Amino acid sequence: MSRYTGPVCKICRREGMKLFLKGQRCYTDKCAIEQREYPPGQHGQGRIRASEYRLHLREKQKVRSTYGVSESQFKKYYEMAKRKRGVTGEYLLSLLERRLDNVVYRGGFAASRAEARQLITHGHFLVNGRKTDVPSFLVKAGDQIEVKEKSKKLVVITDALENREQRGGVEWLEVDMEAKKGLVKALPERKDMPTSIQETLIVEYYSK
Ligand code: SF4
Repeated sequence: MSRYTGPVCKICRREGMKLFLKGQRCYTDKCAIEQREYPPGQHGQGRIRASEYRLHLREKQKVRSTYGVSESQFKKYYEMAKRKRGVTGEYLLSLLERRLDNVVYRGGFAASRAEARQLITHGHFLVNGRKTDVPSFLVKAGDQIEVKEKSKKLVVITDALENREQRGGVEWLEVDMEAKKGLVKALPERKDMPTSIQETLIVEYYSK
């Protein structure tokens, strides 16, 4: 399935929460959720029938949209997580967090994951000194991510770094703002990931 290309604020309104898909705008009062918290569409303000299936589906869609991955890719991550020992839901989230586009976003080099994806595909990042233009690349502990020398003055990157504080960093990633580099100190654990996610619902969705 291809990636959704419609207005992204509709996704937040459908999920009833801020998913921070639009970069800096998400932190302003222009955010659509601040203005209209009800779901989009003609029946958006009507009563929505709650079912167990709907609950599981919405959680899966919410997480998929947050990380900006396609349905098939998301399912692939779930299958990988299922084959691993340990808690499937936690490993699934860890895989999503380890994606290079997420790491670039978490490091503050881009204002959103979508922006990070674009910067990566345009070849502005190196991983361990090698050009890496695949947003789904999975980082490992000890990996070094850096902005390519020629790209260090790109306004989109300098602006994103300036506003990094507002978005907040993560403990598992050490960022040198001056050198525009990041070091993956350790793999992300459950405590490093958003508490608003209920990964068990996603596992139940796929287990049916
Ligand atoms: Fe979501 Fe950001 Fe749009 Fe607000 S501005 S609705 S957080 S994408």
